[in-house]
Amino acid sequence: MQSLVQTHDIAVGFGGRQVLSHVAITINPGEIVTIVGPNGSGKSTLLRLIAGAVKPDHGQVVRRPGLRIGYVPQKLQLDPTLPMTVRRFLDLPRRCDDATALVALEEAGVSPAADRQMSELSGGQFQRVLLARALLNQPDLLILDEATQGLDQPGSAAFYQRIEAVRDKLGCGVLMVSHELHVVMSASDRVICLNGHVCCEGTPDVVSSAPEYRELFGTG
Ligand code: ADP
Ligand code: MG
Repeated sequence: MQSLVQTHDIAVGFGGRQVLSHVAITINPGEIVTIVGPNGSGKSTLLRLIAGAVKPDHGQVVRRPGLRIGYVPQKLQLDPTLPMTVRRFLDLPRRCDDATALVALEEAGVSPAADRQMSELSGGQFQRVLLARALLNQPDLLILDEATQGLDQPGSAAFYQRIEAVRDKLGCGVLMVSHELHVVMSASDRVICLNGHVCCEGTPDVVSSAPEYRELFGTG
């Protein structure tokens, strides 16, 4: 099985400050991989590197040829009073047709909101619309950066269930960042604990009981 993405011995720094070092990870097709780590530990930088938005100072990112990536960035700066419907919002950036937009909304579990105004959506619906937008180009790899920030725990759990359903239906790989390992655990095949470097990696059970993880997050 050919992996979707591999990083080899990655180093990234900003203004002389080292943010990532010796990062080697692999994402396989159909796999849901969750990155956890403290604030400022380089999680968003790693996702942006994999998406091609950040260049490494050292090392390589190897993507499967033709790989399509759907990306939901952290804290998207969108005007919350955006004067347009959900349908129109999806049509805008890629000029997809309406049927494609409706399929993506269905996959993201938010098709009943297709004709609502963006400004009327709940936090959970808004995140699903962003998910739908990332699904428009039928990605092989879906990247989500703290997509459940601001949602309550049931809302987050429902969102991650939807991510699993998307993976099951589309067969895409998923790479996501979450600060709520207890919520995201059941939806993750593999967890990578990052603190500038990969501290530990494995199944959610293995990582949540690993000394490296407990040192960073406490035992609670
Ligand atoms: P996380 O997502 O784990 O909270 P980030 O990857 O966003 O961490 O950031 C890691 C560190 O890199 C932080 O100290 C942040 O300020 C810094 N950083 C990230 N992107 C840039 C950038 N484009 N320019 C300068 N510093 C950056
Ligand atoms: Mg971040």
